Amino acid sequence: MAATYDPNNIFARILRGEIPCRKVFENEHALAFNDINPQTPTHILVIPKGAYVDMDDFTAKASDAEVAGLFKAVGEVARQAGVVENGYRTLSNCGRDAHQEVPHLHIHIFAGRDLGGMIGRAK
Ligand code: 5GP
Repeated sequence: MAATYDPNNIFARILRGEIPCRKVFENEHALAFNDINPQTPTHILVIPKGAYVDMDDFTAKASDAEVAGLFKAVGEVARQAGVVENGYRTLSNCGRDAHQEVPHLHIHIFAGRDLGGMIGRAK
């Protein structure tokens, strides 16, 4: 069953301007800002401005314009950050098994060093 959106999650509060962020990009449908606890030299989060819990919620309910706006923002952020030449990784955790911490869809952009293999082997 899809999770209910919590309007007081930390990214909703950033979108409302109640909590500061280090913004790097914004378009009509998306906002991008630096992760507060970066895992790589470049670690940016790109989020939709609409209230979507995760990738499942977003791809089921968002308009075509919102989907385009979010994914175009990801590419634009990477170009502006200057990470295209050496490469970067996008990642979006969805739900329990992926250990999603913040229940507002976010796409991580990791870059700035060799990122290693794609995923650790789990049990
Ligand atoms: P998740 O595990 O949900 O995929 O990732 C959540 C990310 O949000 C983490 O990388 C964490 O560091 C980041 N984060 C959590 N709280 C804040 C915050 O208040 N501001 C910013 N900029 N990032 C946050």
